[in-house]
Amino acid sequence: MPTIPDWFVEELLARTDIVTLIEPRVSLKKSGTNYSACCPFHNEKTPSFVIFSRNQNFHCFGCGAHGDAITFLRQIDGMGYVEAIETLASRAGLPMPEDSESQKQERGQRQGLLKATQEASLFYQKSWKNNEFAAIASDYLKNRGLQGQTAKHYQMGVAPTGRDGLYKSLEKTFSLPTLLNAGLVLQEDSGSVRDRFRARVIFPIRDKRGQVLGFGGRTLQKDGQPKYLNSPETPLFHKGHELYGLYEALLQPLPKSGLIVVEGYMDVVMLYQHGIPNVVASLGTACTREQIKKLFKLTPHITFCFDGDNAGKKAAERALSNVLPELEDGFTVHFLLLPEGHDPDSYVREKGKEAFLTAQKQAMPLNDFLFEGAARDLVLQSPEDKVIFVQNAQKQIDLIRPGLFKNLLLQELSKRAQISTDWIAKPESTGQVAATPSRRKAEPIGSVSLVDRIMAMLLKDATLALQIPVELMPLMEPYSACILKLQEDRITDTLGFVHNWPNPKEQALMLGLHRRPMSVNAAGMRQEFEDALKRLTRSRLTEEADILLKKAANATLSVEEKRILAGLLQERANSN
Ligand SMILES: [Zn+2]
Repeated sequence: MPTIPDWFVEELLARTDIVTLIEPRVSLKKSGTNYSACCPFHNEKTPSFVIFSRNQNFHCFGCGAHGDAITFLRQIDGMGYVEAIETLASRAGLPMPEDSESQKQERGQRQGLLKATQEASLFYQKSWKNNEFAAIASDYLKNRGLQGQTAKHYQMGVAPTGRDGLYKSLEKTFSLPTLLNAGLVLQEDSGSVRDRFRARVIFPIRDKRGQVLGFGGRTLQKDGQPKYLNSPETPLFHKGHELYGLYEALLQPLPKSGLIVVEGYMDVVMLYQHGIPNVVASLGTACTREQIKKLFKLTPHITFCFDGDNAGKKAAERALSNVLPELEDGFTVHFLLLPEGHDPDSYVREKGKEAFLTAQKQAMPLNDFLFEGAARDLVLQSPEDKVIFVQNAQKQIDLIRPGLFKNLLLQELSKRAQISTDWIAKPESTGQVAATPSRRKAEPIGSVSLVDRIMAMLLKDATLALQIPVELMPLMEPYSACILKLQEDRITDTLGFVHNWPNPKEQALMLGLHRRPMSVNAAGMRQEFEDALKRLTRSRLTEEADILLKKAANATLSVEEKRILAGLLQERANSN
């Protein structure tokens, strides 16, 4: 199977409009920025199938079918992954990328690592038999209520106490560099090799396709440190990106309530055992933006479930900050904070499935959680506290993309603070959103609104000008000369600067911007400024990549051009 690099898939999805892909198959109705239809995957009379045109996903609220253009083709026509990609590539007029020597090598290396982690996982599973530690682990887990079938479902295993049992078992098949690279063994300065995981219960962390990427290992010793040990960062395993239990959670269609996100391995496993399979764990205390992106590709509905202690509350707040920038209209996020002293595992064992599901139904919606957090320790009757409350809440709301939901939150903020909406920063117009069919499509270069916004911010705080890199200057027209001057002379009196500006046309434009009221506070403005620069950078990268991609459609790119293209697309992916 040819490897298809991530940048190619990203590019393909960015060039595919899922609406026109699905349109010939079902009869679509426009509703706002989205489209609805009767679901092609299950029988229904009233439409519960929605295409989110902005994030280029479909979701069925009836049967839970969900995914992007690739998933749609795979599910509707039973295509394989590669076949679906080839179909989309030919629609988009993009040639399939050829593997370079280095890519072939990389693929070979990855396959080798995957084989090693798979073999290691089998070794840990076999180690339930015939070793002393396994008997202790087994008793311990039984005492905690874990059933053998559940352990099997998650392919749990044990790492024996010995120094190098795994190494000895794998060294005949795999080279030492492969085992080191896969994070399975460690080499000491003396040169001797030992297993990374020893005397631990092992949870294999698998990707969507069931391939073992890494492991989590739990110690059974009371004061064993660390309590949980994860695989290190490897070419396969990136802790901030993976979700434990994802493969297992997707073995059945997701319920309407979507996915539940917990913190611990045992939480996932025990909820499954109690009949709640749609659970994943974040592998750390807080859910990262990468993990949240991954979750929202699978479902628009997430419930974060945290322990009822202070650490749990802090983790919930971090999850909130990470989820806000990823929200789209139509997504729902709930926060379930368990009673003090409980984690999801202990809660479901003590109270049972129904109690857990009831608690999930009563979980706090994102808006309540956001406003309660913003009001914590404040007395809203006091004007001083009210100001802090508004600032706290606004800071969070600023993180959300423009849209209906953001506007509703701002309205709610004015109600909760009992102040006129005039005092709340104006939300950006939603018209702009409707005009942008896909968030993957970059802002057109020279987009007046974006450059104007940047310039307006510079006129409020000229020190920001120093942050604009020289390669963005061509995109800053008609203000690039003004910005260069601001940078060179380290101007602070911007009004004086505008009045002395020699070009009357630019001067008039800047005066207009200067009079524009700025809706956010200083910190908010800096954030907005950085975001605006990021978007502009993305536009630049997209335009340069587009030129090469167009060329690629008609001719073969030189090795150098391919390298530049891959670099541009990589840089653009990083700028997300
Ligand atoms: Zn359906």
